[in-house]
Amino acid sequence: MDQRETRFVPCRGKEFCTDDEGRCRGCGRTLDEIARARDLVDGLAELAIEMNYSNVDEYVAYVAKKVQKKVKYRREQAALEQQ
Ligand code: SF4
Repeated sequence: MDQRETRFVPCRGKEFCTDDEGRCRGCGRTLDEIARARDLVDGLAELAIEMNYSNVDEYVAYVAKKVQKKVKYRREQAALEQQ
């Protein structure tokens, strides 16, 4: 995996899209990165629909918090392993 830090750029809207050399110039993300994020979002949306959650806002906030915590934890673990 590439260890360089990158900055996430959210979708800027389809009107900014370009697909040259496998990367969108609108959001700067690779097409693979975009597809993977889309698949994950689809899965999360599917679960909410399947469970018929009435409080989708709470579900989304929970997922966001969990992802943030998991990334922090994994980065800390990786840093410890490198010492
Ligand atoms: S390629 Fe990037 S800017 Fe275009 S729709 Fe997809 S995420 Fe949005």
